[in-house]
Amino acid sequence: MSHGEPWRAVLPPGFSWPTGVRAAACFTFDLDAESGTLFDHPETAGQMDVMSHQAYGPRTAVPRLLRLLDRQTIKATFFIPGYTAERWPEAVRSIRDAGHEIAHHGYLHEGSRHADPETEERRLLRGFEALHSVAGVRPIGYRAPNWELSYALPAILARHGIIYDSGLMDADHPYRLAVSPAPDAPTIIELPAHWALDDWEAYDYLPGLTGSGVIGSPADVVARWTLELDALVTEGGLFMLTNHPFISGRASRAHALEGLIAHARAIDGLWVATCVEIATHVATLDLPPVVHRPPVLPGNERTRPQAALERLRRAPSQ
Ligand SMILES: [Zn+2]
Repeated sequence: MSHGEPWRAVLPPGFSWPTGVRAAACFTFDLDAESGTLFDHPETAGQMDVMSHQAYGPRTAVPRLLRLLDRQTIKATFFIPGYTAERWPEAVRSIRDAGHEIAHHGYLHEGSRHADPETEERRLLRGFEALHSVAGVRPIGYRAPNWELSYALPAILARHGIIYDSGLMDADHPYRLAVSPAPDAPTIIELPAHWALDDWEAYDYLPGLTGSGVIGSPADVVARWTLELDALVTEGGLFMLTNHPFISGRASRAHALEGLIAHARAIDGLWVATCVEIATHVATLDLPPVVHRPPVLPGNERTRPQAALERLRRAPSQ
């Protein structure tokens, strides 16, 4: 680029936004509630203090956030674990009744790590059942709890009618994701996310469970998110913000978030939409599928854990 030339967005081959749109923003909420601690720390079921911290989401934050979204006249996407729906049916139905998208977020907020495909499929189906029995909805979007996505899961998602996933981190624009390396593999749409656009790291602190104890100021956090939003608008990308009602539904954080949403709405050509709206558009594009293959480790190099194990074996026994 020569000096003085304006910054221009470079879109991936085949990618375009709808006419008049130059970038997009999704405001999403993961309604983890109690399930956010129960899978990894089941002992917290007996800890009223921790459970109350998580219950703040459906009990206090959801009504506040629904009012906020109504004031800003935008629709959001709520990713909801099935267990949350069963425990807080009225909160989930209020989200549905306000016209927001409800998407799948596991059953008990189970991460993919160490799960075999059969286990992953069983959890997916249990999440579907819970959301259907509580709210009568059949989601077509998915976000992996903790964003832990195994290589096997996309094929399972596609088999059960999921059209998009949101959580991979290798792009600024939505893309078509091949569910396996097979040449004729089905595809779903990926709506990429990133830890820097998640409220958990900035705000969440539960002693002994999560966070460092350093809790960010909403002014700083929203300033950081605004920088990324403005830059992604310039790049023609997708701003995917992930908030949790129990975290960002706190008063000052919700107020700061509303300021960010108002800022986004005032940007000319920025499409503020739900995930399913974005995915439905991207599905109409003739995009080459992106194939993710796990790296093959070099056979002639010991990894750090292998080397450590060998040192332990060599050490004289005490
Ligand atoms: Zn979650």
